[in-house]
Amino acid sequence: MSWYISAVKCLSRSFKSNNAALSGGRRGLTRIAIVGSGPAGFYTAHHLIKQCDDVRVDIFEALPVPFGLIRFGVAPDHPEVKNVINQFTTLALTDRCRFIGNINIGTDININQLRSYYNGVVLAYGAEEDKTMGIKGEDSYGVFSARSFVSWYNGLPGYENLNLNLSSGDTAVIIGQGNVALDIARILLTPLDTLKETDICSHAVDALSFSKIKKVIMVGRRGPLQVAFTIKELREMTKLPQCKTMIKHKDMLPYKDIISELPRPRKRLTELMLKTSSDGRDISNDDNVLELLFCRSPMEIIARNEITKGIKLEINELIEDANGGNTTAVGSGEYETIDCSMVLRSIGYKSRNIDPEIPFDEKLGIINNSKGRVVNNGTTINGLYCSGWVKRGPTGVILTTMNDAFETAGSIIEDNKNGMLPSSNTARDILNDIKGFEPVLFEDWLKIDEEEKRRGELWAWSNT
Ligand SMILES: Cc1cc2nc3c(=O)[nH]c(=O)nc-3n(C[C@H](O)[C@H](O)[C@H](O)COP(=O)(O)OP(=O)(O)OC[C@H]3O[C@@H](n4cnc5c(N)ncnc54)[C@H](O)[C@@H]3O)c2cc1C
Repeated sequence: MSWYISAVKCLSRSFKSNNAALSGGRRGLTRIAIVGSGPAGFYTAHHLIKQCDDVRVDIFEALPVPFGLIRFGVAPDHPEVKNVINQFTTLALTDRCRFIGNINIGTDININQLRSYYNGVVLAYGAEEDKTMGIKGEDSYGVFSARSFVSWYNGLPGYENLNLNLSSGDTAVIIGQGNVALDIARILLTPLDTLKETDICSHAVDALSFSKIKKVIMVGRRGPLQVAFTIKELREMTKLPQCKTMIKHKDMLPYKDIISELPRPRKRLTELMLKTSSDGRDISNDDNVLELLFCRSPMEIIARNEITKGIKLEINELIEDANGGNTTAVGSGEYETIDCSMVLRSIGYKSRNIDPEIPFDEKLGIINNSKGRVVNNGTTINGLYCSGWVKRGPTGVILTTMNDAFETAGSIIEDNKNGMLPSSNTARDILNDIKGFEPVLFEDWLKIDEEEKRRGELWAWSNT
């Protein structure tokens, strides 16, 4: 705890800064509510508090625990990514920022009620649904969304009993070739003893100890130049003990001569893919295997008695548009079937509308906005903002989300300076008025966290 206290003091000093940012704005405290405690919510709060002495922020969270996908998305073997939690913890322990967990905005309190207590409300509630493939057999047992699988191994409440069929076959197919797909492949193929050293949930380790999965096939609609994962994640995969990454040499050959012309990040990634590629002869029966399969679209889940037995794929051809800028996959009319017991779709997350008052673009899956200011039919709604994945769509890493949150915070500061924030009933504390709920404050959460850690240590000790 002493670490927290000294860090809080240090950060409090850094918050004593820029009152000038609000000069010309309202007198007295400006109260902002943020909906969602992921990186978008916390970074928006951080920027507001750092820039303006007279801002107080309440962060509302539907779960009893903070930090969104940092806790329930980021893979348990990537602890360095989760370090940002320390910074957010420091912020939540200051008296200018209050975490209010276990309150679902849109269900427990509606947006207009919330707005009546605050000068500004920021919607930063992420993307909690997932896209579906829309193919026959998708409801069969053995088909799971990446979101539920990730939530399961990260211990999101409600997912601990996910009934995965890890022991009914040796092959899993993942539809999608992004970093989330690689996270899942890595968790499925990492030796159990290595996994036990990570932050993974004990129920996941127990279930994975019965896993028979030795081969994971990651399927992409387009070719090697269009994969969405990044070099760091692929390199990590190629170094996984007792596991071979299989990229067919013949799939990479057509790109050999154009690699030098690619933009730098794509060039380095494609070089690594070429270097990793082989004819597969070095793979032994003892190895676990990750195979990358290109130019295939899912057509049908092959199921018997509603249990997944395989997946039918259409082979695609790649068509470049006239100026070579965009590459499209077009079905060739040829098909193939892969036998597998599990299919994981990792084709993206999706935001939803949590309140009819929010102007939500169902097609794009984002809140209509301009620089984070919520816009309805071309008119800005004063005092209503959005930030993070629900603002720009469910792509981008924590750093992208941070920059995005800073933009929204900048808009709030500017509007406050120009007297554009509504004067609401800010003298009242919403917590005194809402009845029948059990909010979890940050101090309560710290106790939960402590107990969780104690149990984790006990489990690790009894499993060594
Ligand atoms: C599986 C996965 C792994 C990832 N790994 C990495 C990585 O290794 N490195 C990296 O940089 N980035 C990673 N990312 C990306 C990163 O997690 C996102 O950029 C970031 O979390 C988006 O932040 P957000 O705050 O918009 O959404 P979220 O993190 O989803 O936060 C939204 C919060 O809002 C809450 N909420 C939802 N509805 C309500 C409501 N009605 N009322 C109140 N609260 C609500 C949610 O419970 C959640 O806590 C990963 C993403 C995924 C999906």
